[in-house]
This record gives sequence, structure tokens and C-alpha cells, in this order.
Amino acid sequence: MSNSDRHSVRRVVLPSGRTIDVVYFEDVAPPETIPAADSIEGLHVCPLCDSRLVHPVSFAGDGPDRWEITLQCPNCGWLGDGSFDRELVDELEDELDRGTKALVRDLKRLVRANMEDEIDRFVHALEADAILPMDF
Ligand SMILES: [Zn+2]
Repeated sequence: MSNSDRHSVRRVVLPSGRTIDVVYFEDVAPPETIPAADSIEGLHVCPLCDSRLVHPVSFAGDGPDRWEITLQCPNCGWLGDGSFDRELVDELEDELDRGTKALVRDLKRLVRANMEDEIDRFVHALEADAILPMDF
């Protein structure tokens, strides 16, 4: 088994009660934790590499309307933490939601494309008389 096969999953519960699963690969060196800034673009944007895939690693309440969050960038490995107000956290959750929907959409497209590809090959094989009753 190669190193890239080893991974672990950590479940993060968002303030709204929804949960997301974060997958960690062991061959990625744990980066130094540096503070996250209240970015104008939102918490999902990496301050180092501008990737828009930053996700929370942990959430903890920090007063009635603030959250202490550790964030991680899957692209460059940046880790950051900070205390953020509800508005920013809500935006992050919306962004995570959008990301999940986009993933599901892409997966459906991929499944459909694979099926179309198989159907095409089947039709070509039929036309070429390459499929005979004994194949079934
Ligand atoms: Zn990054």
C-alpha cells in the first residue's frame, strides 16, 4: 500500500448543525497554523494561494455570535484560525453548500457521460455485428 492510500476522515459539525466530512491524506505534511484574516472575499478563499476551496477543520462557539474556526486549504496546505462573526460564518456555510451541490452536479454529469460512452460503444458493436446472442 502506498502512502497516498492512507487517509483519515474527520467529521466537522457546522454551527447550523449540518456536518461535513474532511478527508486527510497522511503524506501531506501538517503545515504551521497561522491566523486567518477576515478576508474581503470570504473565509473560503485561501490567503496564500487564492484557492476557493478552503474548508473548516474545527468549529467552536466564541460568544453568542462569534465562532472560533480553524480553516484549511486543500491546495497549498495552509492552516489558519481566528474568531469570526456570524455573518462571515454563514457565508462560509453557503459556500460549502454551493461546493457540495457543484460536486454532486459534476458527479451526475460524469455518470451520465460514462453511460453515454458505454451506450455508444454498445451501439457501434451492434452495428458491427460484434455482439452475438452467445455473448449474453
Ligand atoms: Zn491555499
